[in-house]
Amino acid sequence: MPNTIRPLIAGNWKMNGLRASLREIRAMAEKVSGKDRPDCDVLVCPPATLLAEAVALSADSPLATGGQNCHVARTGAHTGDVSAEMLADAGARFVIVGHSERRSDHGETDGVVQAKARAALDAGLVPIICVGETGAQRLDALAITVVEHQLDGSVPQLQENEQIVIAYEPVWAIGTGEVATPADILRMHASIRDWLVSRLALKGQETRILYGGSVKPENAAEILALANVNGGLVGGASLKARDFLAIADAA
Ligand code: PEP
Repeated sequence: MPNTIRPLIAGNWKMNGLRASLREIRAMAEKVSGKDRPDCDVLVCPPATLLAEAVALSADSPLATGGQNCHVARTGAHTGDVSAEMLADAGARFVIVGHSERRSDHGETDGVVQAKARAALDAGLVPIICVGETGAQRLDALAITVVEHQLDGSVPQLQENEQIVIAYEPVWAIGTGEVATPADILRMHASIRDWLVSRLALKGQETRILYGGSVKPENAAEILALANVNGGLVGGASLKARDFLAIADAA
């Protein structure tokens, strides 16, 4: 299927960024508002401590902001957690759920990821639902099966007006400098598209599928031109406005 979906370039700052880093968000907001703005949607997901200020800095620009995680519950006795409603209240429009670092560091199962995605939708946020195989699963030729299984377990039932984003992030490519080959990305994204269309019909044709895993300014154009790649989820290279915006320009 040709890429007629407007791309989304999303930055995941992970546990990086102090107040001084807000200047990078200011630079992103300025660029996406200017006459040289990239021809795609741009989103930055800073740590929760910077979210409200990031929202304020991007208030007059098309730069969107998001959270990196949310709790499944709306409120309650969950010390240290942040709910989807709180993110929305701070001005976020998106939230990443099921990132492999959450799955491995916090034991998040597909069921938990699905509940988080539902909580995000109920709060009016768009969940970016992450899936991806480990290096061992890939070597065992299980990548497609593993990702289908994750989709089965992680994607909630959707109402008419609700949208999601899927991010395919092979775990072995995150933060390693290794990137899936174009052939591997094409095959996996086609498989995810088939899954989406079989479950969500027309909505499945319109759902963005992002690639994530060591996307850099140098490799972005090739990856983002592939069929069914509707943008990127970018970790390390999203911390500096210059690199992140070069990726957005490549879209
Ligand atoms: C990520 O954290 O989602 C990611 C893809 O990281 P990196 O771009 O650094 O590989």
